[in-house]
Amino acid sequence: MLVDLRSDTVTQPTPIMRAAMAAAEVGDDVFGEDPTVNALEERLAQLFGKEAGLFCPSGTMTNQIAVKVHTRPGDEVLCEEGAHIYRYEGGGVMANSGCSVKLLPHDRGRFTAEAIRSAFNDPGNPHLARTRLVNVENTSNRGGGALWDLGEVKRIRNTCNELGLGLHMDGARIFNAIVATGTPASAWGAPFDSVSICLSKGLGAPVGSVLVGSKAFIGEARRVRKRFGGGMRQAGIIAAAGLYALDQHVDRLAEDHAHAKQLGRALAAQSYIKAVMPVESNIVVGTMNDDTRSGALLSHLEQKQVLAMPFGPGMIRMVTHLNVDREGIERTIQGLASFTA
Ligand SMILES: *Cc1c(COP(=O)(O)O)cnc(C)c1O
Repeated sequence: MLVDLRSDTVTQPTPIMRAAMAAAEVGDDVFGEDPTVNALEERLAQLFGKEAGLFCPSGTMTNQIAVKVHTRPGDEVLCEEGAHIYRYEGGGVMANSGCSVKLLPHDRGRFTAEAIRSAFNDPGNPHLARTRLVNVENTSNRGGGALWDLGEVKRIRNTCNELGLGLHMDGARIFNAIVATGTPASAWGAPFDSVSICLSKGLGAPVGSVLVGSKAFIGEARRVRKRFGGGMRQAGIIAAAGLYALDQHVDRLAEDHAHAKQLGRALAAQSYIKAVMPVESNIVVGTMNDDTRSGALLSHLEQKQVLAMPFGPGMIRMVTHLNVDREGIERTIQGLASFTA
């Protein structure tokens, strides 16, 4: 069987998840009448210590809605160069919200409160854009699944309070961070005004992300969702998969993390590998000695029925998830070992 390590988005809904979807009680969610969607929104809001939630088709949409609600055209958003909202959302921050982006210095996706203070534009200077929003991605995808330090996040919150900035978390993989650190969702959620949570990554649901925040924030987000075309009708069919995933697929993320560590060690042992980012969750990123050989390595793996992702010059990314088992990890390790540079 194919071992697909390209992304944790490739998971197949399990038969029991499909059964839960088929049995879901539904209604018109644009009317607020889908009990399954309402249950999912309430459950995640409560889990992250927020008043309300909003179910959306994708994490891109929850992020883009959040940026839209936090900002006015002409404002500036602070994030780092690898941030999904900046790099992988089709220029949405600029196109949808009319905001510029200032990129902060970072360590594998993580920046400091001090970096925000340095990047902040003097609001008294009319030449400058109004700095308005900070985006934290936890775990950091481009950072190789790097985990944030909660203490630094709290310092960032204090700085945002001082400077009058909104604070958003792109928590596409926040459940990986919760399981890897043992720090509960409520503690991760507390410093943020808004949190985007993906159900279609490691949690294994086929579709969906939820944005959580205050009642007022989510009220406005609901209008923006409608404007962006994201209002769905009997969406309980897909929300049911999210509820099922929250029951059944959270604790097992520890298994994905153990698999990723195993892959990381195996990758680091190859003579053709220069560096492997520290493996902290379910993402493994390696860089080869020879920048031109990553295509050859990916083809070699593909011949062994293993798929990985190109991730920049000489770099490959492998992501573990619920459709990758021990046998798949072993096959991948054999594939890595049999490649000749
Ligand atoms: C996957 C991902 C998203 C959202 O992606 P969608 O495919 O739109 O659901 C957002 N942020 C990060 C860091 C991601 O990895």
